[in-house]
Amino acid sequence: MAEKIRVTVWNEFRHEKSHEEVKKVYPDGIHAAIASHLDKQGDVTTRLAALDDPEHGLTEKVLKQTDVLIWWGHMAHHEVKDEIVDRVQERVLGGMGLIVLHSGHFSKIFQRLMGTTCNLWWREAHEKARYWVVAPDHPVAAGLGPYFELEHEEMYGEFFDIPAPDELVLIAWFAGGEVFRAGCCYHRGHGKVFYFQPGHETYPNYRDENVLRVITNAVHWAAPGKGAVAREFGHRPEALEKLG
Ligand code: ZN
Repeated sequence: MAEKIRVTVWNEFRHEKSHEEVKKVYPDGIHAAIASHLDKQGDVTTRLAALDDPEHGLTEKVLKQTDVLIWWGHMAHHEVKDEIVDRVQERVLGGMGLIVLHSGHFSKIFQRLMGTTCNLWWREAHEKARYWVVAPDHPVAAGLGPYFELEHEEMYGEFFDIPAPDELVLIAWFAGGEVFRAGCCYHRGHGKVFYFQPGHETYPNYRDENVLRVITNAVHWAAPGKGAVAREFGHRPEALEKLG
């Protein structure tokens, strides 16, 4: 059997401790819900990390052993230490995949990698969301129909202040009328980055089969390719060909 993809599921893990209604939906945390699904795939191995772990659970060693990092944060983005953000960015540029979920749009690491504010419109109104697949042949869309729906999700609406995605896989429509680029692929250095909109903490949408399918597909898409070239740069005084 081929080597397993090593996924670290990072969660701020605060709402689940401080908000009863979130604790009811995700008693072990959002990260545990996502990891338990990925663990069933057979070709993925997971570990959990959280903001309050030493070094936010993202030590040099952990990151070195991570092929794909999944990121969920919301109320404590500012508590993520800049040195850890530097470390994660470095790993992404070196080839580690990064999947940023829902309110992670405002995380330091996503803003850093995008270079924009990543701001958007939002509303919590228990509204229905419909996610249209706009790149049906993309690996992240594998196994999805033309669209899928979530009965309740937080509305995120355009304009979403991100750079134009390298590949746009999903567009969301919300019952209130807004639309949103909900599944966005980027390449940064040698790494792949995927932003995925669903996942407000009061809804059980990380148990929805289509949401989990997209996350699982994104893990496979974002995993680094084999035989990646080492990143080396600098002065090259010796030319390959004879000059002048
Ligand atoms: Zn939310």
